[in-house]
Amino acid sequence: MSDVPYFVTLGEAREISQKTTIPTIVEMVGLDDCHGRILAQSLESKVNDPPFDNSAMDGFAMRYDDTIGGGKKLKIIGTIQASSQEMMPEIHPGQAVRIMTGAPMPKGADSILQIELCEVQGENVILNQESKKHFIRKMGENLKCGDVALKSGSILSPAKAGLCATMGYDSIPVVKKLKIAIISTGDELVQPGEKLGPGEIYESNSFGLAGLVKWLGHDPVRIQAVDDSLKELREILNRVSEDCDLILTSGGVSMGEWDLVRKIMEQEGDLHFWRVKIRPGSPPLFGLWNKVPIFGLPGNPVSSHTVFRMIVAPWIRKMTGALGPQELQIKAKLTTSVKATADCLTLRRLSVEFTESGIIAYQKVHQGSGNLASITTSDALTLLPAGSTAEIGEIIDLLLL
Ligand code: AMP
Ligand code: MG
Repeated sequence: MSDVPYFVTLGEAREISQKTTIPTIVEMVGLDDCHGRILAQSLESKVNDPPFDNSAMDGFAMRYDDTIGGGKKLKIIGTIQASSQEMMPEIHPGQAVRIMTGAPMPKGADSILQIELCEVQGENVILNQESKKHFIRKMGENLKCGDVALKSGSILSPAKAGLCATMGYDSIPVVKKLKIAIISTGDELVQPGEKLGPGEIYESNSFGLAGLVKWLGHDPVRIQAVDDSLKELREILNRVSEDCDLILTSGGVSMGEWDLVRKIMEQEGDLHFWRVKIRPGSPPLFGLWNKVPIFGLPGNPVSSHTVFRMIVAPWIRKMTGALGPQELQIKAKLTTSVKATADCLTLRRLSVEFTESGIIAYQKVHQGSGNLASITTSDALTLLPAGSTAEIGEIIDLLLL
């Protein structure tokens, strides 16, 4: 135990934990199943986007020279809706073709006039003004064939999933989801829905942590709370280490006699660090159990949440090459002062407002690490250096929740 790094900085905690790596497994998924997945390699477009010059408007296509000055009359020689090249009329001087948005430009035409500026009179169209060349969407103007439009590690948002299809992919290489065990520990914990006895509280951490795991695009395996017993703990750790990529525990990592996660990791596991200089959330540990990485998170609900965001999420993103999702870092002007603890990077929960005079932030809720509502009613976490106080009017960095 004596040579295990103790009370390390946040940077050290990330560095030490990220030295332990797990393999990334790539699998192919169809477009229907790619939403929210992590792209496993950069994707080049297989086609030009758009693949051909086409109209950006419903209207008429014609030669610009025929329309100069407006008020001109042109002969309608056809309609283009679909993409069949054989049936495509060619435009000659004095002619126009009715065209729909997205339809290919006919040969000879170099401009469009939208329908509302045209008046059809039998076989002719009267143009209320000159046609426009910029209503043509040029072949490849969005993407050229071979352009890398999505980087490895991208999270496949709805727009990105759509772009995969635009680029011609029907299936996509993604990172296999990690299977992450979540074990909450504590004799006092009761499942929500059951009746609370004396001294008991509802178990909440595993639900919040499962949500955070899903937020990162992975599969949580939530285990019912285990009692503070070395035997139970050993059994469950052995069981989940057989088929999980990562183990998260909550509770039992502080200094107390009943903090058995710490004890079992010291005695039987492979401990890489214990305690981190962040508050809330100073008690966590990291190590290996049967060669499987394990983060021991604190029991206090705010602490387990913040430690996940600050240490576990960066580890998971690093292991999977994911470029997100991640809290946005912003700057805001304080309208209340906020104080850090003496020795820890301090993550106060603040409210944020976007006002006419800029972004402001203030502390309005009780900051106890047991007060989970302090996260739900706040918008951001401070990154206050140990020992500092940020005064009213100061501009500070915040992580948007
Ligand atoms: P511990 O780290 O085990 O000493 O727990 C610290 C505090 O967090 C205690 O008040 C526990 O009752 C509470 N706690 C521990 N685990 C959970 C949990 N899974 N859900 C809600 N509260 C918890
Ligand atoms: Mg406990």
